[in-house]
Amino acid sequence: MVYIQSHKKENCCPLCVALDESECAEPYIVVKSEHAFVILNRYPYTSGHLMVVPYDHVSSIDKLSCETRSEMMELVNHAIQVLQAVYCPEGFNVGMNIGEAAGAGIADHVHVHVVPRWEGDTNFMSSLAQTRVLPESLEETHRRIKEAW
Ligand SMILES: [Zn+2]
Repeated sequence: MVYIQSHKKENCCPLCVALDESECAEPYIVVKSEHAFVILNRYPYTSGHLMVVPYDHVSSIDKLSCETRSEMMELVNHAIQVLQAVYCPEGFNVGMNIGEAAGAGIADHVHVHVVPRWEGDTNFMSSLAQTRVLPESLEETHRRIKEAW
């Protein structure tokens, strides 16, 4: 696989590490496309919280090729369709945080969040206790989304 050798990686970057480990264990990766991949967020805001990630370890979309950016948008689009089919959400948050000042958790490796939303999903547990109660495990989410993809 040419792209595995050509993508720039960082040993301590959780997204690059997840991609490397995917060769044996596929930890939460949903699909690997030509320039980017789709992975479950390990700390999801809601069930079905996905991230679209380029193979290139760069901090902003302006450092990516036009092809990579285009493919990422197509993956975002497909993620929305799959999540709609599996979870029937009432809305989506789609976006990226570029730079730590903007709230990026993994600032060195740009990625797009796709978060299915329901009316009232920010409940008092989440706002008071900083705890999120999810109705299913990550393994179950991974199985359902991968099947539908
Ligand atoms: Zn990385």
